[in-house]
Amino acid sequence: MSDKILFRGEDLEQFNKWRTVEKDHCIACGSRDFELWATAGSYKAVKCVKCGLIWMNPFLNDEGLGKYYADYIGRRRLNNDLKMEQRKIQYQSDREFIEHFISDGKILDVGCNGGFFLEALSTKFEKHGIEIDPEAVVYAQKTQKQFGKNILCVALERAPYENSSFDMIAMRGTIEHLSDPVNAIKKVSQLLKKGGYYYITATPNGDSFAADLFRDKWTLFHPVQHIWHFSPKTLSLICSRFGLKLIAKDFPYLGTPYENARENVKIVAKAIKSREQNPSAELPISPPFWENMMALVFEKTK
Ligand SMILES: [Zn+2]
Repeated sequence: MSDKILFRGEDLEQFNKWRTVEKDHCIACGSRDFELWATAGSYKAVKCVKCGLIWMNPFLNDEGLGKYYADYIGRRRLNNDLKMEQRKIQYQSDREFIEHFISDGKILDVGCNGGFFLEALSTKFEKHGIEIDPEAVVYAQKTQKQFGKNILCVALERAPYENSSFDMIAMRGTIEHLSDPVNAIKKVSQLLKKGGYYYITATPNGDSFAADLFRDKWTLFHPVQHIWHFSPKTLSLICSRFGLKLIAKDFPYLGTPYENARENVKIVAKAIKSREQNPSAELPISPPFWENMMALVFEKTK
């Protein structure tokens, strides 16, 4: 038997020497007033007292993140058919939401993986994608007939596009992984045309009931992968600095493949009760729940 501290079966302590990026202020509102929010092993998450942004502090530097994802990616997608199937259904709902606002033009998916979300969108779009995992890029280039040639293996900051060239830029389950989301959002704004849309979707909502109740046992809490837990408010604070205005938000749960309202409510009710009886009671890992995930649409207004 190993005496290693594991986080849901993963040895995250092995990355400690790369855990060197520490913020002395909140990247959303600038406040230096933050408090401990959750711990997992030696990892700590803090929460800004002023705006509510939650982040891992400190978190892994880019070298450490590279090491972590290098052996993570293979395990993740290729051998999990059920998850792929659920995600496919979710792509349709993400598509319906964004196509209320835009249904043609030139679009970019940042962190596009194998091009699966782009594939689910209308063929009226001219589709582009960037992804830093080389294997996913090769896969997308081979399998995506319509737009495979438009998938590049490059980080957003070095993406070779003209300013004001996209009608929509999407980040699906991406922004919470980025070590410098402010710079990424600045770049998104530069690449968007005036009147274009920035679509953030399938991103954990740190301002949700289950996040607050379960903390380190929240299903979306991950000390290495999810550096930031944003909310509509905290993302608006950052986006508004770059001329991006929040125009719509959604919290998909009912009707998603993750919905199981009756069971999920029972588990949450039980957790509330056990915390009432004992404030330091150990909780199970939280179920999917209302407001856990968010989808936000920003419009570039200037
Ligand atoms: Zn703040």
